[in-house]
Amino acid sequence: MRTLLSEEQIQQAVSNMACEVVETYGDKPLTIVGVLTGSVVLLADMIRKLSMPLRVGVVQASSYRGATQRGPLVINSDLMPNIANQDVLVLDDIFDTGNTLVELLALMDQLGPTSIRTAVLLRKLGQQEVDLQPDFVGFDIPNEFVVGYGLDYQDEFRNLPYVACLEPDDLRD
Ligand code: 5GP
Ligand code: MG
Repeated sequence: MRTLLSEEQIQQAVSNMACEVVETYGDKPLTIVGVLTGSVVLLADMIRKLSMPLRVGVVQASSYRGATQRGPLVINSDLMPNIANQDVLVLDDIFDTGNTLVELLALMDQLGPTSIRTAVLLRKLGQQEVDLQPDFVGFDIPNEFVVGYGLDYQDEFRNLPYVACLEPDDLRD
Protein backbone atom coordinates (compact mmCIF):
# COMPACT_ATOMS: atom_id res chain seq x y z
CA MET A 1 0.00 0.00 0.00
CA ARG A 2 1.29 3.46 -0.90
CA THR A 3 0.25 6.63 0.91
CA LEU A 4 -1.36 9.08 -1.50
CA LEU A 5 -2.57 11.78 0.90
CA SER A 6 -1.20 12.27 4.40
CA GLU A 7 -3.30 12.97 7.45
CA GLU A 8 -2.01 16.57 7.45
CA GLN A 9 -2.89 17.12 3.79
CA ILE A 10 -6.40 15.77 4.37
CA GLN A 11 -7.00 17.90 7.45
CA GLN A 12 -5.87 20.99 5.52
CA ALA A 13 -8.19 20.15 2.61
CA VAL A 14 -11.15 19.57 4.93
CA SER A 15 -10.50 22.93 6.57
CA ASN A 16 -10.37 24.61 3.16
CA MET A 17 -13.62 22.94 2.09
CA ALA A 18 -15.30 23.97 5.34
CA CYS A 19 -14.22 27.58 4.71
CA GLU A 20 -15.76 27.45 1.23
CA VAL A 21 -18.97 26.00 2.67
CA VAL A 22 -19.14 28.79 5.25
CA GLU A 23 -18.52 31.37 2.49
CA THR A 24 -21.36 29.86 0.46
CA TYR A 25 -24.01 29.57 3.18
CA GLY A 26 -22.96 32.19 5.71
CA ASP A 27 -25.06 31.96 8.86
CA LYS A 28 -28.00 30.28 7.12
CA PRO A 29 -29.16 26.95 8.59
CA LEU A 30 -27.77 23.97 6.69
CA THR A 31 -28.70 20.29 6.53
CA ILE A 32 -25.68 18.15 5.82
CA VAL A 33 -26.35 14.60 4.60
CA GLY A 34 -23.47 12.12 4.66
CA VAL A 35 -23.51 9.16 2.28
CA LEU A 36 -22.87 6.00 4.27
CA THR A 37 -20.57 4.39 4.84
CA GLY A 38 -17.58 6.04 3.21
CA SER A 39 -18.32 9.61 4.31
CA VAL A 40 -18.43 9.00 8.07
CA VAL A 41 -14.90 10.19 8.78
CA LEU A 42 -15.22 13.25 6.53
CA LEU A 43 -18.64 13.98 8.03
CA ALA A 44 -17.28 13.89 11.58
CA ASP A 45 -14.34 16.15 10.71
CA MET A 46 -16.33 18.54 8.51
CA ILE A 47 -19.24 19.24 10.86
CA ARG A 48 -16.87 20.31 13.62
CA LYS A 49 -15.48 23.01 11.34
CA LEU A 50 -18.90 24.46 10.44
CA SER A 51 -20.37 27.26 12.50
CA MET A 52 -23.89 27.78 11.07
CA PRO A 53 -26.97 26.12 12.65
CA LEU A 54 -26.48 22.59 11.38
CA ARG A 55 -28.62 19.47 11.08
CA VAL A 56 -26.78 16.23 10.37
CA GLY A 57 -28.30 13.26 8.61
CA VAL A 58 -27.25 10.23 6.62
CA VAL A 59 -28.37 8.22 3.63
CA GLN A 60 -26.96 4.89 2.57
CA ALA A 61 -25.78 4.22 -0.96
CA SER A 62 -23.61 1.33 -1.98
CA SER A 63 -22.45 -0.04 -5.27
CA TYR A 64 -19.05 -1.56 -4.58
CA ARG A 65 -20.36 -3.98 -1.98
CA GLY A 66 -16.98 -4.58 -0.41
CA ALA A 67 -14.89 -5.40 -3.47
CA THR A 68 -13.37 -3.12 -6.10
CA GLN A 69 -15.89 -4.25 -8.68
CA ARG A 70 -19.08 -2.26 -9.16
CA GLY A 71 -22.49 -3.76 -8.45
CA PRO A 72 -25.92 -2.13 -8.90
CA LEU A 73 -26.46 0.99 -6.81
CA VAL A 74 -28.66 0.44 -3.77
CA ILE A 75 -30.04 3.50 -1.92
CA ASN A 76 -31.57 3.24 1.54
CA SER A 77 -33.09 6.56 2.58
CA ASP A 78 -34.81 5.33 5.78
CA LEU A 79 -32.45 7.39 7.92
CA MET A 80 -32.57 10.53 5.79
CA PRO A 81 -33.82 13.63 7.64
CA ASN A 82 -36.69 15.75 6.33
CA ILE A 83 -35.09 18.00 3.71
CA ALA A 84 -38.17 19.89 2.50
CA ASN A 85 -37.47 23.64 2.40
CA GLN A 86 -33.90 23.09 3.61
CA ASP A 87 -30.56 24.04 2.13
CA VAL A 88 -28.87 20.66 1.77
CA LEU A 89 -25.23 19.70 1.38
CA VAL A 90 -24.63 16.08 0.39
CA LEU A 91 -21.25 14.79 1.48
CA ASP A 92 -19.52 11.77 -0.06
CA ASP A 93 -16.06 10.28 0.15
CA ILE A 94 -15.22 10.04 -3.53
CA PHE A 95 -16.62 11.08 -6.90
CA ASP A 96 -15.75 8.38 -9.42
CA THR A 97 -18.23 7.86 -12.28
CA GLY A 98 -20.59 10.29 -10.54
CA ASN A 99 -23.55 7.96 -10.85
CA THR A 100 -24.06 7.63 -7.10
CA LEU A 101 -24.46 11.37 -6.52
CA VAL A 102 -26.58 11.85 -9.63
CA GLU A 103 -29.02 9.14 -8.52
CA LEU A 104 -29.07 10.43 -4.95
CA LEU A 105 -29.73 13.99 -6.11
CA ALA A 106 -32.58 12.85 -8.35
CA LEU A 107 -34.19 11.15 -5.36
CA MET A 108 -33.59 14.06 -2.98
CA ASP A 109 -34.83 16.65 -5.50
CA GLN A 110 -38.29 15.09 -5.22
CA LEU A 111 -38.35 15.85 -1.49
CA GLY A 112 -38.55 19.61 -2.02
CA PRO A 113 -35.27 21.02 -0.70
CA THR A 114 -34.59 24.74 -1.17
CA SER A 115 -31.19 23.90 -2.65
CA ILE A 116 -28.82 20.94 -2.94
CA ARG A 117 -25.06 21.13 -3.27
CA THR A 118 -22.47 18.37 -3.10
CA ALA A 119 -19.07 18.01 -1.48
CA VAL A 120 -16.54 15.19 -1.87
CA LEU A 121 -13.09 14.68 -0.45
CA LEU A 122 -11.77 13.03 -3.62
CA ARG A 123 -12.53 13.25 -7.33
CA LYS A 124 -10.99 10.72 -9.71
CA LEU A 125 -9.65 12.45 -12.79
CA GLY A 126 -11.23 11.50 -16.10
CA GLN A 127 -13.67 8.93 -14.71
CA GLN A 128 -16.93 10.89 -14.76
CA GLU A 129 -19.87 9.57 -16.76
CA VAL A 130 -22.27 12.36 -15.77
CA ASP A 131 -22.67 16.12 -16.34
CA LEU A 132 -22.75 16.90 -12.62
CA GLN A 133 -19.60 18.16 -10.91
CA PRO A 134 -19.39 18.44 -7.12
CA ASP A 135 -19.58 21.99 -5.73
CA PHE A 136 -16.77 21.38 -3.22
CA VAL A 137 -13.79 19.07 -3.87
CA GLY A 138 -10.87 18.30 -1.58
CA PHE A 139 -8.48 16.65 -4.05
CA ASP A 140 -8.34 15.47 -7.64
CA ILE A 141 -6.62 12.09 -7.72
CA PRO A 142 -5.52 9.66 -10.45
CA ASN A 143 -7.67 6.66 -11.34
CA GLU A 144 -6.44 4.26 -8.69
CA PHE A 145 -8.34 2.31 -6.07
CA VAL A 146 -7.90 4.12 -2.77
CA VAL A 147 -8.64 3.25 0.85
CA GLY A 148 -8.55 5.01 4.20
CA TYR A 149 -10.25 8.04 5.73
CA GLY A 150 -13.60 6.25 5.40
CA LEU A 151 -12.91 4.37 2.17
CA ASP A 152 -12.78 0.60 2.39
CA TYR A 153 -11.59 -2.46 0.57
CA GLN A 154 -13.82 -5.40 1.53
CA ASP A 155 -14.88 -3.50 4.67
CA GLU A 156 -11.30 -2.92 5.87
CA PHE A 157 -9.10 0.18 6.11
CA ARG A 158 -11.82 2.79 6.76
CA ASN A 159 -10.04 3.75 9.98
CA LEU A 160 -6.73 4.78 8.37
CA PRO A 161 -6.24 8.51 9.02
CA TYR A 162 -4.60 8.87 5.58
CA VAL A 163 -5.55 7.82 2.03
CA ALA A 164 -3.55 5.07 0.35
CA CYS A 165 -3.56 3.37 -3.06
CA LEU A 166 -3.95 -0.37 -3.06
CA GLU A 167 -1.24 -2.10 -5.10
CA PRO A 168 -2.22 -5.09 -7.28
CA ASP A 169 -0.67 -7.41 -4.67
CA ASP A 170 -3.07 -6.04 -2.03
CA LEU A 171 -6.16 -7.01 -4.01
CA ARG A 172 -7.95 -10.17 -3.05
CA ASP A 173 -10.38 -10.38 -5.97
P1 5GP B 1 -19.48 6.65 -8.36
O1 5GP B 1 -20.94 6.38 -8.33
O2 5GP B 1 -19.13 8.11 -8.35
O3 5GP B 1 -18.79 5.92 -9.48
O4 5GP B 1 -18.86 5.97 -7.10
C1 5GP B 1 -18.93 6.54 -5.88
C2 5GP B 1 -18.77 5.48 -4.81
O5 5GP B 1 -17.95 4.39 -5.25
C3 5GP B 1 -18.06 6.08 -3.63
O6 5GP B 1 -18.98 6.59 -2.69
C4 5GP B 1 -17.28 4.91 -3.09
O7 5GP B 1 -18.09 4.20 -2.17
C5 5GP B 1 -17.03 4.01 -4.28
N1 5GP B 1 -15.67 4.19 -4.84
C6 5GP B 1 -15.32 4.77 -6.01
N2 5GP B 1 -13.98 4.76 -6.18
C7 5GP B 1 -13.47 4.17 -5.06
C8 5GP B 1 -12.10 3.88 -4.63
O8 5GP B 1 -11.09 4.16 -5.27
N3 5GP B 1 -11.99 3.28 -3.42
C9 5GP B 1 -13.06 2.95 -2.65
N4 5GP B 1 -12.82 2.35 -1.48
N5 5GP B 1 -14.34 3.20 -3.02
C10 5GP B 1 -14.53 3.82 -4.22
MG1 MG C 1 -19.64 5.56 -0.95
